[in-house]
Amino acid sequence: MLSIASHNGQKATSAAFDLLQQKRPALEAAVEGATRVEDDPEELTVGYGGLPNEDGVVELDAAVMDGPTHRGGAVAAMRNIRHATRVARLVMEQTDRVLLAGEGALRFALANGFTEENLLTDKSRRMWLHWKRSRSENDDWITPGKEDADLDLETYFKQQFFRPTGTVHVAALDHAGDLACATSTSGHAFKMAGRVGDSPILGAGLYVDNAVGSCGSIGHGEANLENCSSFLGVELMRSGMSPEEAGLEVLRRVAANAHPRQRDEQGRAKFHLQLFLLDPDGRRAGVSMWDGRQFAVSDSGGTRLEDCTPLQVRSE
Ligand code: ASP
Repeated sequence: MLSIASHNGQKATSAAFDLLQQKRPALEAAVEGATRVEDDPEELTVGYGGLPNEDGVVELDAAVMDGPTHRGGAVAAMRNIRHATRVARLVMEQTDRVLLAGEGALRFALANGFTEENLLTDKSRRMWLHWKRSRSENDDWITPGKEDADLDLETYFKQQFFRPTGTVHVAALDHAGDLACATSTSGHAFKMAGRVGDSPILGAGLYVDNAVGSCGSIGHGEANLENCSSFLGVELMRSGMSPEEAGLEVLRRVAANAHPRQRDEQGRAKFHLQLFLLDPDGRRAGVSMWDGRQFAVSDSGGTRLEDCTPLQVRSE
């Protein structure tokens, strides 16, 4: 039994592993793990406190996939509902559909007793407003001065490489040897209204085959949409590759397909992408387009961060 997650998911894997120890199914562990991150107001990329779209509205994408039944459920561009992963699970369990978007996803959540709330925190609202006011000298907004210094925006934007991105992906392997995974995100910060990323798309942002393994991702979602990355990761494991080999091969193919505008002066894919892979024997890997990334693991040895294996190294 174990649970793995993106670097921001230590509380997710820890909660998931607690459930696994109680012999709860992998699906419940993955969903309830992701829910912990959705509740965290300091996590700027998921659920409550997630950074909004360009209009200042938080639009959430989430999906779940269950190994033993090979079923999935997802919501896309859903507003005002914090626990998007639980809603995605209900889409899977209560409907003949896989993906509900926008207004329909919201109505489905309300029908199931979820309550609407403003998902912006003061911090995420101020970060969005700072971004909006800083965009151009040729619009109606005056560029902010020192009044936003407490937001430490410079550090945040620098650390994030480009515009802030992030997501939580959680995978679990239960006592019965079954796999499941879940992904939840507010998507790319300040994205176009209505933009849907890879996270709610089965095969792109996440995928499970109970006999082979699970794969999920965070980072530049369009790259996963254009390469069916998570499906590919699982299929490469089916062909005999280890989780790490499969993940690196997916990244190689994604990098080879990068658009010219997404390449640096050495021709390398500039964007950030990570994959998290887990097989039924408990072998796992985190792989990343660039070095310096980690992923969360909880098992009988405790909860910790382990290093991702990078495809590209920044100092090279
Ligand atoms: N993959 C997410 C998306 O494209 C964002 C991220 O993980 O950074 O919406």
